[in-house]
Amino acid sequence: MRAFVIGNIALDETYSIAALPAAGASIFGEQASRSLGGKGCNQAIVLSRCGVETTLVAAVGRDDRAIAIGKALTRERLTPKLIPVASATSDISIILTTPDGENSIITTRSAAAALDKDAAMEALGDAVSGDLVVLQGNLSEETTLAILSAARSKGLTTAFNPSPLQSWFASVLAFIDIAVLNRIEAEALTGESGAGAGAFLLRAGVGRVIVTLGGQGCVLVSADGAIEVPAAPATIVDTTGAGDCFTGVALASAMLRGVTVDARALEDASRAAAVTVGRRGTQDAFPCRDELVTILRA
Ligand code: ATP
Repeated sequence: MRAFVIGNIALDETYSIAALPAAGASIFGEQASRSLGGKGCNQAIVLSRCGVETTLVAAVGRDDRAIAIGKALTRERLTPKLIPVASATSDISIILTTPDGENSIITTRSAAAALDKDAAMEALGDAVSGDLVVLQGNLSEETTLAILSAARSKGLTTAFNPSPLQSWFASVLAFIDIAVLNRIEAEALTGESGAGAGAFLLRAGVGRVIVTLGGQGCVLVSADGAIEVPAAPATIVDTTGAGDCFTGVALASAMLRGVTVDARALEDASRAAAVTVGRRGTQDAFPCRDELVTILRA
């Protein structure tokens, strides 16, 4: 079984500055790091580090950033299908950080939004029944709906992480087998919290719902009822990327055991996310392949 993550990829450029600039100010800063990012890329990397054969489908521009993205991806074990889009620039996140831990982030999504449905569906061409398709909220409504309905007709399992939130998500819920969303997304989409949000999404046609609750753990809601799983003990350094790590490991844990997401998948995901929140950064903070093998075997 293989996973096809169809989402976004970006370069994360982090700059250290003394204080966030006031409107109209010019300030000095230092470039602290440049790394791969984007929710689609993050989740694909976690799935592949878990040992799932993973294809990442993402749009890039025809520019230098796309070359840097392609080179950086060679360090991971996934299969990249980068789709060049002439009308867009490769996506980037500019992260401004100050010594007191504040940050401000500017993210572009012109490449992700321009991913054309025909190109995305072509990338799904060799997916077969039982394979997993993973989507987030960065693509256009038209492309997201086209992928989901094609996935349904091919007998693929669909997983959706509705982030960043978009106004049209209600229109795709009936195509989702597994939804993974955090507390804020759950409340915004349903007007309810925790298991109540899960029950709302089941009524809208989602098969299984996982709501993550930060340090309070998570809850899995399905036709069989609700199961709460506490967060694993962690020393908090930086929680960025916890949700992407959790999503990738929960899906991988179930897939590698040939089941749908269950309590064990959530426990594995919680242990992996606890590692991530104990380290600085996003992809650098995700557990490496050996750590994930240990977590998934425990
Ligand atoms: P982010 O946007 O920071 O990537 P998120 O908002 O999508 O994360 P959260 O619900 O904050 O998702 O966290 C996902 C999972 O990460 C939680 O269910 C939990 O397992 C783990 N986690 C997050 N914060 C903590 C914490 N303080 N202690 C232990 N585990 C945590």
